Amino acid sequence: MNNFSSINQIDQSLVAQVRDVVDGDFARRIGDLGRLVKIEGIAWDAFDAANLESSAEAVAELLRETGIFEFVEIRRAELDSIPGSPAVVARRAAKNGKPTFLLYAHHDVQPPGNLDDWETPPFEPTLKNGRIFARGAADDKAGIVAHLTALETIRKVLGDDFDLGISVFIEGEEEAGSRTFRTFLDENRDVLAADAIVVADSGNWTADIPALTTTLRGLVSQVIEVSTIDHALHSGMYGGVVPDAMTAMIRLLATLHTPDGSVAVEGLVNGTASPLPYSEAELRRDAGAEEPLELIGSGSILDRLWAKPSITVIGIDGQSVALSSNTLLPKVKAKISLRIAPGDEPDKALQALRAHLEKHVPFGAKLDYLEIETGKPFKADASGWAQTLAETALQAAFENETALIGIGGSIPFIADLMEVFPNAQILVTGVEDADSRAHSPNESVEVASLKKAMVAEALMLIKANELG
Ligand SMILES: [Zn+2]
Repeated sequence: MNNFSSINQIDQSLVAQVRDVVDGDFARRIGDLGRLVKIEGIAWDAFDAANLESSAEAVAELLRETGIFEFVEIRRAELDSIPGSPAVVARRAAKNGKPTFLLYAHHDVQPPGNLDDWETPPFEPTLKNGRIFARGAADDKAGIVAHLTALETIRKVLGDDFDLGISVFIEGEEEAGSRTFRTFLDENRDVLAADAIVVADSGNWTADIPALTTTLRGLVSQVIEVSTIDHALHSGMYGGVVPDAMTAMIRLLATLHTPDGSVAVEGLVNGTASPLPYSEAELRRDAGAEEPLELIGSGSILDRLWAKPSITVIGIDGQSVALSSNTLLPKVKAKISLRIAPGDEPDKALQALRAHLEKHVPFGAKLDYLEIETGKPFKADASGWAQTLAETALQAAFENETALIGIGGSIPFIADLMEVFPNAQILVTGVEDADSRAHSPNESVEVASLKKAMVAEALMLIKANELG
């Protein structure tokens, strides 16, 4: 890309112009957000799938109204002959060597949960204390209206004939695990191919401090079985001589951490996180982890949450207390969940975990591997033009420096995006803040923050139109 240096700064006159346009359209866009959140589009089997059709139709209509696309269509993929939820795709081809952006969000939402826990009706948008409350107000219908506003703003600022390429993909089953996502990408590769992908499904550091989510941890889970004897034995007759599988399993699992609770498995990547302020007291409050409970691991709190591996034993199949008898158990299963750091690789991490288990399994017990599950971590390309541009645009819109944040969990479909479009730069943005309560009752989006996110996205696209 030429003109690389120009993306490090944005003229104040352009910022003012974009703010004016967004201001002028804002009330209408809030109205659109309100109409979208009233559609209870939930992609879980127990809910009415017809709502997802209405929701996709409403999003498609809003995209058509922007007047910038060559086509807007509702499409779906299939997996095992079962169709996925309706997704909306749109495309406008790039001209004159300009880059193409893919704008992603999802139109399905989480179920509302227990209605009594909501202070306002979940599917009735309610404005209170500068925030709009409703299921999906933040996650992720705010992402959709941010894209729409940015697209309309770019047309109003640059005219109908701008050169930037734009693809849109508004998924309809993200909250239900993106079942057909990979197939959808493969089947719609031509339409969705882009130089930069904006995944508007995360959040800012605070409502006032913008953020790009630049790292996600990956996941390796492994179910193991430890066996000692070929049948259960009377614990009085044989206990004290013959080792039981539960004791062997407990001793094995205990080797996974050092005495301070750090991961003891050798050969895993350990990194450091951005030096953002997040105190032990805040963590304790957010997690409900009150003193005298000690925290585990070492390094800053954010290092431990975002940049280092963690191991949790998430299930054990042995014998329930209710059914327990005085017996030496012959076999016990456990599921080990290993979160891997950005920069690590699931296959390597799995081998490291297995080498550790084999080295530490006690009493010569037999160790078998059962189900595995893996998900790649994510680390954004900090040297790419897209990240520089996004940081600059966010900073201009929020008038605060952009924080580079991580997430300790995964957004599994990001790994699919990386695999299908290995050359695309991925920008994970979003409008959630610490008070948004995505997935929980009383979900909300801060109105002022949403407007700034719209300005930032519009600035980013308008500046990208100068690249080439
Ligand atoms: Zn989401």
